[in-house]
Amino acid sequence: MDTRFIFVTGGVLSSLGKGICAASLGRLLKSRGFGVTIQKLDPYINIDPGTMNPLQHGEVFVTDDGGETDLDLGHYERFIDEELSKYNNFTSGMIYKTVIDNERKGKYLGSTVQVIPHITDQIKESIAKTLQKRKVDILITEIGGTVGDIESLPFLEAIRQFKKDVGRENVLYIHVTYVPYLKTSEELKTKPTQHSVKELRSIGIQPDIIICRSEMGLDEDLKAKISLFCDIEKEATINAVDLKHIYEAPLMLQAEKLDSIVLDKLHLKKGTSDLASWKEMVDHIHSLSGKVSIGVVGKYTNLKDSYISIVEALNHSGYYFKKNIEIVWIDAETLNQCKKTKGRLQEVDGILVPGGFGMRGIGGKMDAVQCARTHNIPYFGICLGLQCAVTEFARHVVGLAGANSSEFDPDTRHPVIDLMEEQKTLSKKGGTMRLGRYPCKLKPGSLAHQAYGRDVVYERHRHRYEVNNRYRDRLEQGGMTVTGFYPKKDLAEIIEIKGHPWFLAVQFHPEFKSRPDCPHPLFRDFVAAACRYAGKRS
Ligand code: GLN
Repeated sequence: MDTRFIFVTGGVLSSLGKGICAASLGRLLKSRGFGVTIQKLDPYINIDPGTMNPLQHGEVFVTDDGGETDLDLGHYERFIDEELSKYNNFTSGMIYKTVIDNERKGKYLGSTVQVIPHITDQIKESIAKTLQKRKVDILITEIGGTVGDIESLPFLEAIRQFKKDVGRENVLYIHVTYVPYLKTSEELKTKPTQHSVKELRSIGIQPDIIICRSEMGLDEDLKAKISLFCDIEKEATINAVDLKHIYEAPLMLQAEKLDSIVLDKLHLKKGTSDLASWKEMVDHIHSLSGKVSIGVVGKYTNLKDSYISIVEALNHSGYYFKKNIEIVWIDAETLNQCKKTKGRLQEVDGILVPGGFGMRGIGGKMDAVQCARTHNIPYFGICLGLQCAVTEFARHVVGLAGANSSEFDPDTRHPVIDLMEEQKTLSKKGGTMRLGRYPCKLKPGSLAHQAYGRDVVYERHRHRYEVNNRYRDRLEQGGMTVTGFYPKKDLAEIIEIKGHPWFLAVQFHPEFKSRPDCPHPLFRDFVAAACRYAGKRS
């Protein structure tokens, strides 16, 4: 069948959960037997989010093929359970760079290079590129930003033209808006939605479906009002109320008949929807009892989106054990200055130090590692969390005073963590880390091997520094074992501490591969250890 195209735009506000809507629709369509993939087009000028501060942009989601992408790709992967590629995320920066490079090569000799048609053509090509990577029945394309932003205009113009290229019947426009509740007059207000749709129509895009995000849902009269003013059918006004758990979203949208309206409009046969396992998972989420607390020690704790995949991976493990996960956010920067924060570390059932860059907060992270190690609290280190674990162990157990990562002290006497050889000659910062999927061989009998139940695993990386092999013997003699390594270069990828109930750290990012109905094995076993620890304590 010819591919159908669904474009998802956003209106009124940002952070509406447009990504969750796109991901949920993807799940609904997949559960009806369609091949689906989801793509994000981001209007900012960075080539990718890899160089941005997580506090501004949230987490950088890494794909198997080494793309540093928008965090919405994480939602897409978790909802549709497909591995995506770097070709599922394009930015204005990439589009412009390609056009400018092409201009220099002489591709447009004789022409004046312009936003229309050159940039818009390139945007359309990026949509085609996603399909070249994976041919699907339905491609969902989410446009980042909000209608009305100057930056989104070329993207909106490109998707307007798209319907002419592939036929109006093969294209669907969904607009996600916000319907605020005004407390003083006790009513939901549709005016912002009307304005946003007016703006969209002035660009030449008539939405087919409007998803209305609101606190409590629109009644039939309000739906009729939006339908009248925005020129859509009443049934195509979909309620999307605030939810406690994001994984309820596909079920809520199906109850509003979103998938069947989409398929009708695209003239596709509906088939039957099989959401049984998803429903079961959501039932599971509703039956959680008791809690296990995990202290996450990082420096981007003010914006929870910075650690979104970690939060989700912990939650997935909670669902597995039917336990609520209580995340205790511990600011690494204030940790070693504040007794109260330090005390909180000893009250949690597990400690996790996530990835990060730069010196700020390192002292606190190191203290957190030491606390977990010496108090037998389950510890899970991810990327920088491994590097801190190795450094702390080298200093306090192996006795290498001043041991450090050369990222934090280039002149350290003991660079137990050091820049990888191939990184030493690089001068450009963007897209040059060790990125994407690499194999990791596991040591039989280790916690890691037990968790995965296999000899070789593939995980995603994003870092420049590694355990320095010159110190490996000394670390091993002290009781820190390398239980996973990259065979080709003999790089340490997983470490564990003998005799500790559960102390494991990884150089890669397992959080990217966890699924709501299938937690990542390392997160699962970490949470299991935290449950045991909680049980013992009480
Ligand atoms: N800053 C460290 C490095 O580049 C760790 C990176 C990370 O935690 N993702 O190796």
